[in-house]
Amino acid sequence: MAANGKSMLIDTTKCFACRSCQVACKQWNELAAESPVPTNRGTYENPPDLSATQWLLIHFKETERADGSMAWNFARNSCRHCIDAPCKQVTNNADSITVDADTGAVLHNAGTESESFNAIRSACPFDIPRKDADGRSRKCRMCIDRITNGEVPSCAKACPSDAITFGDRDDILAMADARVTAVQGEFPNATVLDRDAVRLLILLGDPASSYKLQTAPA
Ligand code: SF4
Ligand code: SF4
Repeated sequence: MAANGKSMLIDTTKCFACRSCQVACKQWNELAAESPVPTNRGTYENPPDLSATQWLLIHFKETERADGSMAWNFARNSCRHCIDAPCKQVTNNADSITVDADTGAVLHNAGTESESFNAIRSACPFDIPRKDADGRSRKCRMCIDRITNGEVPSCAKACPSDAITFGDRDDILAMADARVTAVQGEFPNATVLDRDAVRLLILLGDPASSYKLQTAPA
């Protein structure tokens, strides 16, 4: 792998939940609209869950901070592109789940339909993979067709608030650490989830319990 591969920083302190990233993911990957059309569940969060055609989802959660102020927090859910991917460890065919040599992107390929999908999904600490009508495992592919041609993933391209940054992993790690320091005044609990274990680095301002987001077990 070239150097340490690639990573992406999701800075939730900059996210205002416009969901342009969700739309861009659908468009670039030619993913169908959810069917049936989700109904209003009393939240702006939509659709309610990941699916074989919904690889990226912005979750919403309201909580009260210790000082009594209200936090309305947004956090992204999608494949974390784990450094040592548990999903790959349970596959029988080396080609069904691969790790791109240059970027480190974890790719669920044709062939996963012949694997035990339940084993793949159960192995994922973040409950990400979803099965399509053909039995194939589907999830974020880090826009591998874009990044191997020098482009950033479509979500990063679409974000209007600079909340998504893609680049060399060492640079993104340094950026994430610097950002945690920079926001300490406003967010003394700021942290980067699973910093050393994943390529999708999610920076939270408030404690993780203030977000609707599945994290890796301790
Ligand atoms: S988040 Fe889940 S699906 Fe993605 S690489 Fe990690 S184990 Fe695999
Ligand atoms: S495009 Fe950017 S600001 Fe909009 S929901 Fe996604 S991460 Fe948040």
